[in-house]
Amino acid sequence: MAGGNAIRGTRVGAGPMGEAERGETVARHRVAFWCAKGHETRIAFATDADIPELWDCPRCGLPAGQDQNEPPPAPRTEPYKTHLAYVRERRSDADGDALLEEALTRLRDRRS
Ligand SMILES: [Zn+2]
Repeated sequence: MAGGNAIRGTRVGAGPMGEAERGETVARHRVAFWCAKGHETRIAFATDADIPELWDCPRCGLPAGQDQNEPPPAPRTEPYKTHLAYVRERRSDADGDALLEEALTRLRDRRS
């Protein structure tokens, strides 16, 4: 593309955005992917193309999936979970239940 000035001149008032939109509705649709860091990536696919389950996030390189609430786990940054980690996780859950139970009991005591 040589002669930037000439191109800019012809583009004035031509509405390049309208053109792009029209092209998309005819031949493609957009699919959103989310990575574990919450980056949203929208990719335009041709309507007859196979949509991949995963897409590499262009911002951080993590795999991104189509479910925003359950993005694929980050394979490299996710620390390996040891047995101890699982136990700790369970224990914090139990602690949370205990705290909730305690709060409910207090609430019931106050009422009676
Ligand atoms: Zn990302």
